[in-house]
Amino acid sequence: MNLETIYERMGISREVHAYGQKIEKELRARFAAIDETAEYNQLKVLGAMQKCRVSDVHFAGTSGYGYNDLGRETLEAVYAEAFHAQSALVRPQITCGTHALAVALAANLRPGDELLAISGRPYDTLEEVIGIRPSSGSLQEYGVTYRQVDLLPDDRFDLDGIRAAMNEHTKMVHIQRSKGYQTRRTLSVTDIGEAIAFVKSVNPGVICMVDNCYGEFVERIEPTDVGADLCVGSLIKNPGGGLAPTGGYIVGREAYVENCAYRLTSPGLGREVGATMGLMQSFYQGFFLAPTVTAGALKGAVFAANLYERLGFDVLPDGRESRHDIIQAITFGTPEGVIAFCRGIQAAAPVDSFVEPEPWAMPGYDSDVIMAAGAFVQGSSIELSADGPVKPPYAVYFQGGLTWEHAKFGILMSLQKLMEAGLAKLP
Ligand SMILES: *Cc1c(COP(=O)(O)O)cnc(C)c1O
Repeated sequence: MNLETIYERMGISREVHAYGQKIEKELRARFAAIDETAEYNQLKVLGAMQKCRVSDVHFAGTSGYGYNDLGRETLEAVYAEAFHAQSALVRPQITCGTHALAVALAANLRPGDELLAISGRPYDTLEEVIGIRPSSGSLQEYGVTYRQVDLLPDDRFDLDGIRAAMNEHTKMVHIQRSKGYQTRRTLSVTDIGEAIAFVKSVNPGVICMVDNCYGEFVERIEPTDVGADLCVGSLIKNPGGGLAPTGGYIVGREAYVENCAYRLTSPGLGREVGATMGLMQSFYQGFFLAPTVTAGALKGAVFAANLYERLGFDVLPDGRESRHDIIQAITFGTPEGVIAFCRGIQAAAPVDSFVEPEPWAMPGYDSDVIMAAGAFVQGSSIELSADGPVKPPYAVYFQGGLTWEHAKFGILMSLQKLMEAGLAKLP
């Protein structure tokens, strides 16, 4: 059986497959560059594991208090080494990205301090952490004030605005690398470094924290290479490599990471406790695979941008732009387009491929939302996944794919569903 035939048996028509092949062929140079970044990052992670003398004894778990957990301590040393940072906290007790960010903020801010966001409005879930939307236990309730400087219309940092907003209470600066669910450019690590250098030139004592979600291993450098004091993310996104079943990480300067440990567990206990319960092998192995898994997801995003751009849909980033995270937005302009796309992604999944996603009123959203996720790990968005609020401009945000081959199949299936619904036509 040849490739077209097996695609056809899996539900992809010959025309859709041929169109995909043509796009893929045009992307050869782009994909080669992505592979080279993966190669670089693979060596970075491998080097860190060798330097820290990772051994199979580190995969044994602890229970109870988790004292003297060698696997945990060594994994944290590996993360610190790979991020070129002084220290790291990498824990299954960090439940998700939002939690990691909440810990980093609450651990390093005290009553009377001010948090300054310099890349505009932070990710939705942080609004309640900070207290932008009133919420029980927010930083605002603890007397931490908040200010925000938006990016300029061309998505550059507003340096004059930042200088004007900084005052004697400014303790911490928040920078978000990925656009999240906004329609702005994703910030490159180099851009972030320039902003950090500017903040430090105004006040060297301000702690610069970067929300690194979806950005890990997309470039050869990370925010900690350009002066970030803290860099934070989720293990069910890029750095978990699809294998970590839960968890989050915080890397950065020793004193600030130490504060995070006291906040995460308890004053007095800090990083000395926290059982790992047999999860360490998946954390190590996931981190080892993360550079190539991220490359697969990145190829999927670039492929989708080019495939849909050619059909006349708005895509962000566009087909040629350089990439700093793995998220791709595609605007369909109709609710039917969003729904058909998500149904295609779901139908292509290894898990729950037989269910049809439906738009749904989700807590925290002001419109119905449709989500496609057929993941091994609940909510994992390094696995191929998509979601779209069913409201104008009717855009979907999609990301992930543990392998390029699966990302490609999912994208072709989304196009197949759009064509079957009469919502897209091949050029
Ligand atoms: C996903 C994400 C978060 C929150 O992570 P969760 O694991 O969903 O809590 C925060 N910031 C950005 C930019 C993200 O993409």
